[in-house]
Amino acid sequence: MRFLLRVVGLMIAMYAALTMVRRLLLAFTPTGHVTAPSANPEHLVKDPVCGTYVPQASAIQAGDQFFCSEECRRKYK
Ligand SMILES: [Zn+2]
Repeated sequence: MRFLLRVVGLMIAMYAALTMVRRLLLAFTPTGHVTAPSANPEHLVKDPVCGTYVPQASAIQAGDQFFCSEECRRKYK
């Protein structure tokens, strides 16, 4: 009977340890959302004049519009 109690106690202790480890792993799991798409310089934006997609980092911005070149920016009115 004492042996059985020890086995049950060991099982409970192991279960508690496993639950703690699982909780710790969940707490340290990254969410996956590191950067917003608008903050990504490789994010492609569409030129409303010629329809070209350009990386936001190299696009010419005017207000909330992005253009592939200064020429397109001037054409857009
Ligand atoms: Zn353009």
